[in-house]
Amino acid sequence: MIILDGKKTSNDIKEEIAVQVQSIVSSSGRVPHLSAILVGNDGASETYIAAKVKACQKVGFKSTLIRLDESVSEEELLNEVEKINKNSDIDGLIVQLPLPKHIDEMKVTEAIDPKKDVDGFHPSNIGRMALNIPAFLPATPSGILELLERYSVETSGKHCVVIGRSHIVGSPMSILMARNNNPGNCTVTLTHSRTSNLKEITKTADILIVALGKAEFITSDMIKEGVCIIDVGITRVKSNKTKSGWKLLGDVNFEDVKDKCSFITPVPGGVGPMTIAMLLQNTLLSSKKEFSS
Ligand code: NAP
Repeated sequence: MIILDGKKTSNDIKEEIAVQVQSIVSSSGRVPHLSAILVGNDGASETYIAAKVKACQKVGFKSTLIRLDESVSEEELLNEVEKINKNSDIDGLIVQLPLPKHIDEMKVTEAIDPKKDVDGFHPSNIGRMALNIPAFLPATPSGILELLERYSVETSGKHCVVIGRSHIVGSPMSILMARNNNPGNCTVTLTHSRTSNLKEITKTADILIVALGKAEFITSDMIKEGVCIIDVGITRVKSNKTKSGWKLLGDVNFEDVKDKCSFITPVPGGVGPMTIAMLLQNTLLSSKKEFSS
């Protein structure tokens, strides 16, 4: 069994990006710039944003964090987005989700200029992804493709089963694995909470991508020998074995399945770090204006 080491791979990618940033800065004097909007002070969102800002510093990007109060109106937030859309110094914009209930997330996502949509959530980028033309790919699925490619996991002709159909992971993942690309060219089955006989389906997977948000849901009796497992889930549970008093669990029971797999991503240290690396990659692409969405 081979561990798909997202921590190491993401560090490799960050080093590669840092080299490119140095060359952009020395040739044009311009520094790639990512702007993030954080509404309210949800603990998990604070952690994710802090990690993104730190990653920007590591590769030499400029970053701007705009904090808005929990009570900000939808209109005020949309105005802020528009200001960044018009600011030619800024290459990428992310609005940290989730947003407070009184704000329509889709409206905000659609307000972001697709050319600065480095999260890859804008309908224009999702459409371009589906058409297999250059687009900002959503960071988590794109990070998974990168891991599969860098570890030379064969995907062509394989049966890929995706669990979960969220807009940010499961749905785009199913599209990407079916595209006529490498990685890709899979026969894909997308499953969700209404899927009957899930176990019968997962047992036929050559590649199993699990993104449902239920700790240790996948066990050894649900998989076949030699499967490649990508565990996207992150659930925080209490633990008396860690200093912090909690630990992170994936959607896969790692200890139970590991001897049956060909490849597997650990949690933590698998998909999570890749997500941030791909956000940086998208921002670099945007700064180079390599394609227009
Ligand atoms: P989500 O929006 O929470 O949706 C969960 C999906 O799982 C839904 O499509 C749901 O089906 C499906 N589902 C729920 N129970 C199921 C069951 N028993 N059998 C089959 N399908 C079931 O998903 P998400 O935002 O993609 O998040 C999933 C997990 O990934 C979470 O733990 C999240 O924290 C983690 N995550 C990690 C990263 C990372 O960077 N590592 C990034 C994003 C998310 P329905 O559509 O029918 O409700």
